[in-house]
Amino acid sequence: MSLANPYTDDFSQASEYLRLTLAFLSKHKIPASPFNYCIGYEFVTGRSQKLQAALEQLLQENPQPDQDVLFALYRSHILQDDKALESVRNELQKVIGSMQQDYDDSRTGLNDFISSLNHFSGILADPQQPGLQQEVQKVMDETRSTESSQRGLENRMNSMMEEVELLRKQLEQAREESLTDALTGIANRKAFDQFLEQTHRKSLEQGEQYSLVIADIDHFKNFNDTYGHLVGDKVLRYVATTIQASVKGKDMAARFGGEEFVVVLPSTEADNAAVVAEQIRKAVSARELKDKRANKDFGRITISLGVAQCTPEEPPQDLLKRADEALYAAKRNGRNQVGMAQANSGFAAAI
Ligand code: GH3
Ligand code: MG
Ligand code: MG
Repeated sequence: MSLANPYTDDFSQASEYLRLTLAFLSKHKIPASPFNYCIGYEFVTGRSQKLQAALEQLLQENPQPDQDVLFALYRSHILQDDKALESVRNELQKVIGSMQQDYDDSRTGLNDFISSLNHFSGILADPQQPGLQQEVQKVMDETRSTESSQRGLENRMNSMMEEVELLRKQLEQAREESLTDALTGIANRKAFDQFLEQTHRKSLEQGEQYSLVIADIDHFKNFNDTYGHLVGDKVLRYVATTIQASVKGKDMAARFGGEEFVVVLPSTEADNAAVVAEQIRKAVSARELKDKRANKDFGRITISLGVAQCTPEEPPQDLLKRADEALYAAKRNGRNQVGMAQANSGFAAAI
């Protein structure tokens, strides 16, 4: 699975969103903490309709919501609660705090400038007023100094935007790492759980079927006992990449744990999921595994698979359980094959 970066705005777009976000936060007297900035950014860009609707409702009820309510919103819509992201968040907090300061400074500068202009227009309106020449000079000087402080601000803003961009990339990288299995490099259990939940929700909204395939390496304990765990780990990588290469488009492959793998197939019925499962089974067993350097043969590895299609309203955990039962039926029937799950009545779990 390749995770999409949700923040691909270019420099000028992100700067514009920065301006809008700070204006939005300031309008509602919301402090620009990283969490609130993120909520504001998502809100002004309109990326998450759910967050937008929730925040609009919140602001209707309370135009200046308190921090705890906002944090709850952040947690339910955005938060990835991994420790690994903590330090990046802290950095981001510093940068945004400093930006807010510069933004406030620039507003003070502009206010001084505007009051000078007002004063100036008052003098112009009164032809009797002496000292016009000096007043014009004063305004010109102030214009120049405002201009140069604006330029200074712009430079600082630019370098801070670059820093924010870097931090955002690090944050995204940490997020991706938290969703990747370290041994095989494919999606991990956490990513799978999230994707399954999301697929389940979409299937309810759109009335579409989806299917699940679960795969388990045959007699893997024997293999490890015979050739050792390090060779076993290589086999896990081989199986993971073979499964990954067999899934396309919206489908997602993940390591479920140990020597078990899963594939989620959105908008797919059991017949087509069975075709994918059979392709995976064939691909895994097609290769003779060898260690060329040590001139060792490990023979072929086989896997057994279970396929289940969701039934209306079925919780994802029940679907997983049926796929698992189908897998164990395949094991009982002699392994190296695909088992199909029994259809669920769809009512038993609901009542
Ligand atoms: P079956 O065909 O019934 O699935 O038999 P099996 O031997 O594959 O099943 P069992 O559940 O008894 O053994 C699973 C083995 O998977 C046990 C463990 O040694 C191995 N295993 C699990 N995770 C890892 C891992 O990360 N690396 C290695 N090398 N082996 C692992
Ligand atoms: Mg197993
Ligand atoms: Mg096994």
